[in-house]
Amino acid sequence: MANDCLFCKIIAGDIPSTKVYEDDMVYAFRDIAPMAPTHVLVVPKVHIASADEVSAENSAYVARIFEVIPNIAAADGLTGGYRVITNCGADACQSVKHLHFHILGGKMLALEMA
Ligand code: AMP
Repeated sequence: MANDCLFCKIIAGDIPSTKVYEDDMVYAFRDIAPMAPTHVLVVPKVHIASADEVSAENSAYVARIFEVIPNIAAADGLTGGYRVITNCGADACQSVKHLHFHILGGKMLALEMA
């Protein structure tokens, strides 16, 4: 846990969130400012600052995240598809420095990626 990390505090329960899934490695909760009918954030329970920090030592957390994403999407009824995004660094406008994957769905999403 990183002391000044918002998502570490959410995982610890020190800041409230709307949980949609949790196991020993992963926590998922609804984005506070949703950009689609479904907007869920999936995070590792260890502090990894961004995709830049993924390594052989912690990549099992990323694998688990991608194992649970289809179940989270199905639970929200995203039968038509969904988008998974991670923003990495300043140019991508990463605002929270704890690796997270956005699940967006529930409507036809815009084609533009940048
Ligand atoms: P990013 O810009 O990729 O770093 O995404 C950070 C996301 O965290 C944004 O979509 C925010 O709306 C979301 N967010 C910030 N604070 C909270 C919070 N307290 N609970 C849920 N989502 C949050």
